[in-house]
Amino acid sequence: MGVETKYFEVKTKGNTDILDITKKVGKTLREAKIKNGIACLFVSGSTAGITTIEYEPGLLKDLPQAFERIAPQNIEYAHHQTWGDYNGHAHVRSALLKTSLVVPFVDSELILGTWQQIVLVDFDTGSRNRKVLVQIIGD
Ligand code: ZN
Repeated sequence: MGVETKYFEVKTKGNTDILDITKKVGKTLREAKIKNGIACLFVSGSTAGITTIEYEPGLLKDLPQAFERIAPQNIEYAHHQTWGDYNGHAHVRSALLKTSLVVPFVDSELILGTWQQIVLVDFDTGSRNRKVLVQIIGD
């Protein structure tokens, strides 16, 4: 049993930008010494999240619209009184989506459905560089 810790970075546009990070995660796993196990993906920050989705144009509209219904951008959040950064919706959306995801892999290949991609969603109000931690546990 071992643990390996790796990182990669992505640049987002913010405003519920959805990035397909499947290839970057796959490359990270193929470069790891551990060949079978689980990968814990984690994005540092309280205004982003990681999940899986079918990465197709319809859902890339549906998911942001669903978040807009759950935690609308243009309402008052108590958080705005704290910092005045007007991203209360981004924090609430991140908390609901979660900032981590565990994915199993076998022979260095991710176990995902054909129509299932790993995505990072950036809810913040502007472009950000996001660091994704890939902590690999296995073999
Ligand atoms: Zn904030």
